[in-house]
Order: sequence, then C-alpha cells, then structure tokens
Amino acid sequence: MSAETLAPPADAVPQAAAEPLPILIAPHPSLRLRARVVGPGDDDTVRSLLPRMFATMYRAPGIGLAGPQIGTGLRIAVVDLVPGDVRHPIALINPQVVAASDELATREEGCLSLPGQYADVTRPAFVRVRYVDETGARREIEAEGLLAACLQHEIDHLDGVLFVDHISALKRNMILRKLAKEQRNKAR
Ligand SMILES: [Zn+2]
Repeated sequence: MSAETLAPPADAVPQAAAEPLPILIAPHPSLRLRARVVGPGDDDTVRSLLPRMFATMYRAPGIGLAGPQIGTGLRIAVVDLVPGDVRHPIALINPQVVAASDELATREEGCLSLPGQYADVTRPAFVRVRYVDETGARREIEAEGLLAACLQHEIDHLDGVLFVDHISALKRNMILRKLAKEQRNKAR
C-alpha cells in the first residue's frame, strides 16, 4: 500500500461547481483525532473531497483547510495563499514535515475552525514538506514565511493539533471556552 499509486485526475483541483462542506468548529471532538494515511483504496474519496475542500476554503474564505475540519479522517489538506482571482491551489495528500529550521518565526494565526480567534504562534521559520499531489505525484516544497506557517498549521490539524495548542494554557482555555459557549448558544 503506497500513497504514490494514488492517482486522481489532474482536474481534481478547483472546480467552481464543487459543493462546499460544513466546517467543524472547536471544540468539536473530531478536530482532536489523528487522521490516517491515505492509501490506494481511498482514491474515490480523495477525488471527490479535494474539489469540495477547495470550494469550502474559498467560500470561507481561508488560505488552508485540513481533512479533520470537514470531518474526514484522512491525511489531506488544501492550501491557497492568494484566494482571489488568481489562484495557486496546492492539494496535499499525506503531507509531512521532513526538515525544519532551528530558526523560529512568530506570526498571528487564525483558523476556520476557531472563527474570530487569533494568536501569535511561534514555529520553525523554514520547513521542507513532502506530500503527494492530486495527480499522484510525489512532491516536496521548501517554504518560508506565511506558506511555512500555513503548511505546519494544516499538518498539525492532521494530528489533532490546533494553533491554540502552541500558546499558553491560559489563553488557549480562554479561547476554547469562548467557542464552546458560542456553540452552546447557537444550539439553543
Ligand atoms: Zn486551522
């Protein structure tokens, strides 16, 4: 079973017609589950989910979205740092950080699953990420700046980790309690 054999068609990436999916909001328990590696048996699921994940991310709008955020337990994510007329979509299947710099960088992060919440997060400034793209090709990107932070944020999601896990427990609990209260109010 090898992810390299995964071969959805090249047009698996953005289709305007794809229907967006609901985004799970913290503290939804599914956001805390570790997603599983995509295998050849997941081709059909991945092929149908990727366009919908792009549609969901663009509609939000956001610059990244990971599988657990739309309730799938597969290691897939989508990223596009410039969600405008000119699109630069990146579909990531089984992404992993294979190298990270000792140098750190701090930037403000937010998350579609933690609406309205932002905090400064410190992470390695440069990372090399290995993944399989939507055509089944093995790829690697070297990233810095916003892309480096975004890739690490999305890969964290695949391990059940949220950006608030990188900040103080005090601030994290404040944010999560606030979101839980909002969800309770909405359910009423
Ligand atoms: Zn997120």
